Amino acid sequence: MESFSYEALPTRVVFGFDTLSQLPEQLARLSVNRALVLSTCQQQAEAARIKDIIGPRAVGLFAGAVMHTPIEVTEAALVVARELNADAVIAVGGGSTTGLGKAIALRTDLLQIVIPTTYAGSEMTPILGESSGGIKTTQKSPKILPELVIYDVNLTYTLPPELSAASGMNAIAHAVEALYARDTNPIISLMAEDAIGKLARALPGIKDSPQNRAARFDALYGAWLSGVCLGSVGMALHHKLCHVLGGAFDLPHAETHAIVLPHAVAYNSPAAADAMARVARALNADDAAIGLYELASRLGIRRSLNAVGMPENGVDRATDLAMQNQYWNPRSIDKESIHDLIAAAWAGDPPRIPI
Ligand code: NAD
Repeated sequence: MESFSYEALPTRVVFGFDTLSQLPEQLARLSVNRALVLSTCQQQAEAARIKDIIGPRAVGLFAGAVMHTPIEVTEAALVVARELNADAVIAVGGGSTTGLGKAIALRTDLLQIVIPTTYAGSEMTPILGESSGGIKTTQKSPKILPELVIYDVNLTYTLPPELSAASGMNAIAHAVEALYARDTNPIISLMAEDAIGKLARALPGIKDSPQNRAARFDALYGAWLSGVCLGSVGMALHHKLCHVLGGAFDLPHAETHAIVLPHAVAYNSPAAADAMARVARALNADDAAIGLYELASRLGIRRSLNAVGMPENGVDRATDLAMQNQYWNPRSIDKESIHDLIAAAWAGDPPRIPI
């Protein structure tokens, strides 16, 4: 690398245990007086608790966030935000709720606060994926980036162990692809390697004991760094495949990442030796792809796309979709290899390291 550029993301971050108690003063700092709190219906109680904490600075609650940010849901939330004359949105939840907050902020310029409760990392990115009529499109804009993110480790204890594991692997995927991104830089690589190491050590601890304080802290910290990686540099084959698979077969987002990652890494390993060495070092493994596969196995994550609902005849369709629209990847993409990769992920085979 002879030169590089690095652009810091301007979001203010508050991180730690019980940081939610700082929400009122943080809202005052931003002059927020009429916040609309957002959540999924599963996390409505959490959203109601946040509304109570901020008292008169909250004007309402919309608990309709769902996966893939459907435009219809955004429109329904916009009606509520306008009726209540909201001046900010506060999203409490995972990537689905964060997506709704981003979609509203993009259309209204309302201040955006995110309180993440999974490891998806969306809160750190200026990227929004939205779905309409079964088609998901992605866009990038500085308007999408939240003004404030409050990470409260206490809110992650309720994230079920299976979802914690898959969501943590989703975060690792952001950091892995950041290490071989075309526009990567030394600062992001530092964050990426630290994120992989923190998550790889913390996730087994969470599986064994979901209330493990130190493991929950490290996993959320790693997820924050991974989110910065995702928001700062371009992703490649792995994210493209997961986007295609999730959209075409309505597969669970985080698990799809966990299943595909070792295969995508094996595919890219001959073309990204430095990145693979850093991934392996962070995992304390001999090989990056095998290390990731073994970590996912240790976490008890389902191994195959078959097990999460993808039909076998979907392998051909996914290959065709993955070959559409050119995108950058460290190793060139050919149809036969991508078909083999998806077929191996469908079957749950160990990753095949090219010789
Ligand atoms: P999610 O937000 O859909 O959450 C999954 C389920 O877990 C939901 O029912 C949620 O309410 C519940 N949940 C979340 N946190 C919980 C907690 N602490 N305790 C109990 N239940 C909890 O899942 P996700 O994987 O975080 O997000 C996936 C979505 O985020 C996808 O649509 C994906 O495309 C998007 N995403 C976007 C970006 C981006 O940069 N734009 C990045 C990553 C993910």
